[in-house]
Amino acid sequence: MLGSKPRGQMEMVFAGCIGDFVPQTHILKRVDKVLDLSWLAGEVAGCYSQGTGRPGIDPEAAVRLMLAGFLCNIVHDRRLMREAQVNLAIRWFAGFGLNEALPDHSSLTRIRQRWGSALFKRIFERSVEACVVANLVGGDMLHVDATLIRADVSWSSLAVEHVEAVNKVNEDDTSPPRGSDGSGQSGTNPAKTKKVKRSRTDNDARMATNKYNQRLEPCFKQHTGVDAKFEVQVDVCVERADVHEGAMLVTQVERVEQLTGKKLSVVTADKGYASAANFAAIEARGMTGIIPPARTRPAKVPLSRFRFDQLNDLLRCPRGHHLRPGSQTIRGRFYRSKAKDCKRCSLARDCLPKTGKSRAIIIQDGHGALLRARRRYLKKLPADRAAYHSHRFRVEGIHGEAKTCHGLNRAIRRGLDNIAIQTWLTAAAINLKRLAKAAFWLHLALWHQFTRQNRIAINLLGHFDQCGSGRLKKA
Ligand code: SF4
Repeated sequence: MLGSKPRGQMEMVFAGCIGDFVPQTHILKRVDKVLDLSWLAGEVAGCYSQGTGRPGIDPEAAVRLMLAGFLCNIVHDRRLMREAQVNLAIRWFAGFGLNEALPDHSSLTRIRQRWGSALFKRIFERSVEACVVANLVGGDMLHVDATLIRADVSWSSLAVEHVEAVNKVNEDDTSPPRGSDGSGQSGTNPAKTKKVKRSRTDNDARMATNKYNQRLEPCFKQHTGVDAKFEVQVDVCVERADVHEGAMLVTQVERVEQLTGKKLSVVTADKGYASAANFAAIEARGMTGIIPPARTRPAKVPLSRFRFDQLNDLLRCPRGHHLRPGSQTIRGRFYRSKAKDCKRCSLARDCLPKTGKSRAIIIQDGHGALLRARRRYLKKLPADRAAYHSHRFRVEGIHGEAKTCHGLNRAIRRGLDNIAIQTWLTAAAINLKRLAKAAFWLHLALWHQFTRQNRIAINLLGHFDQCGSGRLKKA
């Protein structure tokens, strides 16, 4: 029989808590069990006047609303507050009853401005500390990577900017010409005017590309550190997109060791981090760096054919002549051959740059560590391969998760501080998910243990019953 349902006014009176309507498997219900923000009110008390003015929004309720947005992928404040009007789970998670008025979306902006970005960093750090206490952080192996976040600006906001200072920098630049390592290419032309694109609406955004689509976009760069044990995000920081990720590695390692209180022994990263300085710094800390060394520039007589004698500070060319040390640059030290040696050399045509009479090479600081890392990489040890394989799905998986499930594919506000708040809250949301998942599995394991023990106890009781009854029968 065909059913029908009247669509008139439905009753509004019910008994119980609105949390009863939220399923136990809902992400907010799970996260609520592991989220502790009792410390927050004390931290932000100094941002409010004591005893005067209208009572502000409860700090915990505000942070819960923000976290609910990141957990449910509703990252824009206006959309979040519209959704919270009708979403029982968000209302319950933030502590608002059905008849209670929700704060205006602009209140969340003012709260962020009032508290400052450092407080949101503390929320992220607290989530890491909770994961350490729950034994979800091994603290042994760290996977490091960086990703670009598209700035919240339009293409029409971009303008070409003439960087006058660049000309001066080019003139004063003491760095070597590009062909100094054997490529034979000439250096930068000081007379050339450099032009860059900048956004007029977000001054901190920089043009960058992820190399896949080759299109320069206004971006920020997030630097991420992921622990190998349960994929907990133990470090996150955001910088302008023109800051190279390789320059951040050592500070990331230091931050992670300080935050987790554990000594790292292995760090994995991609080719972007494979500089001699990084390998040397990792070695100096007693760690192993599993980083595929970058390929050397193709050249007819490449740098690998030159032998470096660290003890005597000399470089020997394929023909056995010494290249003498010269000036120090930012990356390393210049070594230059004697023109009279090269003049009679049979390799001169392939070895020397087109207009040069001698060969100049830069030996980077930490060159020995780079060579050792190269040798280790060529051995292709199974443990190293396994660690680098897990690097790919762990840290790149975290980036994918943050972008597809938590709205990090595009910045939601402008300015470096606001993007930092977004990345810290996203990372905190991901860590809380890990914590909630662990609590769920722990609960399940305890339940299984409990039922198993009960089953054994029931079986034993049954066994005693049988024995007792047997004895009784005998008696
Ligand atoms: S050209 Fe000069 S630096 Fe190159 S192999 Fe010959 S002697 Fe050595």
